[in-house]
Amino acid sequence: KSTAVRNIDGSINNINEDDEEDVVDLAANSLLNKLIHQSLVESSHRVEVLQKDPSSPLYSVKTFEELRLKEELLKGIYAMGFNRPSKIQEMALPMMLAHPPQNLIAQSQSGTGKTAAFVLAMLSRVNALELFPQCLCLAPTYELALQTGRVVEQMGKFCVDVQVMYAIRGNRNVMIDTQGFSDHSIRIQRALPSECQMLLFSATFEDSVWHFAERIIPDPNVIKLRKEELTLNNIRQYYVLCEHRKDKYQALCNIYGSITIGQAIIFCQTRRNAKWLTVEMIQDGHQVSLLSGELTVEQRASIIQRFRDGKEKVLITTNVCARGIDVKQVTIVVNFDLPVKQGEEPDYETYLHRIGRTGRFGKKGLAFNMIEVDELPSLMKIQDHFNSSIKQLNAEDMDEIE
Ligand code: ADP
Repeated sequence: KSTAVRNIDGSINNINEDDEEDVVDLAANSLLNKLIHQSLVESSHRVEVLQKDPSSPLYSVKTFEELRLKEELLKGIYAMGFNRPSKIQEMALPMMLAHPPQNLIAQSQSGTGKTAAFVLAMLSRVNALELFPQCLCLAPTYELALQTGRVVEQMGKFCVDVQVMYAIRGNRNVMIDTQGFSDHSIRIQRALPSECQMLLFSATFEDSVWHFAERIIPDPNVIKLRKEELTLNNIRQYYVLCEHRKDKYQALCNIYGSITIGQAIIFCQTRRNAKWLTVEMIQDGHQVSLLSGELTVEQRASIIQRFRDGKEKVLITTNVCARGIDVKQVTIVVNFDLPVKQGEEPDYETYLHRIGRTGRFGKKGLAFNMIEVDELPSLMKIQDHFNSSIKQLNAEDMDEIE
């Protein structure tokens, strides 16, 4: 079975969906992150800036007042509860508001204040006395367009003469479908006057995004805020050798019996396994929720929110949740199946995303790998790859857990 997966720039990858493995859809992840990040994500890195004209002075702002915004816009910003610009906004806002207007490509992880930054830039450029459309915002999906529109309406609450229109599914205007997002964007860009200011914001750092950005944004300034690195340093890793699935489940129960667990995330490679495990655990009286790819993004967000609020102690999931979703109070991660790529090669990146934590939130964590004999070589490769030790535990005797 083969599934088409859409990248954020609209291009399509065909991925073999072996036994309902969940694959990561960047646009869906981006929306999911929007829905679950209710506050700013901090970063310990410095913002990197590449100026189109390196000799021009570089401004950054520490307050919104310094930007000399329209009174009603400043009011909107404060009404949203923002006190000062986020790290990326400190650099991006003066660039975006400069005269003459400059183009910008900015990349930083989800939750760092990109949307708020470009919405502010759009609202500050609009002249309500001019009766024609002045800002055009293109989003890769319907839901992201709606989310962004909401921010415009919120921040522009006091800009009473500014109106937002949605050219999306259900509206009769030009529809921008996601399939040809990249082509559409380029066609639209060609139809715009050359003095039009172009801004592109993205959370992902893939090559495809860069190629797209460089095609569509002429002479850009570039701003990047590096992601927090994930590390396995604070994680004690174990494995339990099991004969089959039921055995893995028994080992899991033994772990449960022997240590006090705050909250745990359990990763399965397929939806089928995840479902099976969920049913088993519920039958044994555990409070468990299941997060897998057949759910809508809104449903996923609400499951993650419930889990964050501690309503369930255990979250069982497939790879949909492997990256980007940090639930800081989770102390235990279980790989019910090892992450593997096609051809049984271990998937190192996914392993790191499932188990690793950012150094700054380096609370100690425990990771358990439930493996069958044929997975042992993969596990050893993972151990070598990360140059870390994964200790064997005896399934009947969990006293060795430190
Ligand atoms: P991104 O587009 O990078 O994902 P957002 O602009 O959506 O980030 O911001 C993430 C969260 O932080 C949102 O809830 C937003 O309201 C909030 N936020 C953005 N900028 C600020 C700021 N300067 N101060 C406080 N909160 C902010």
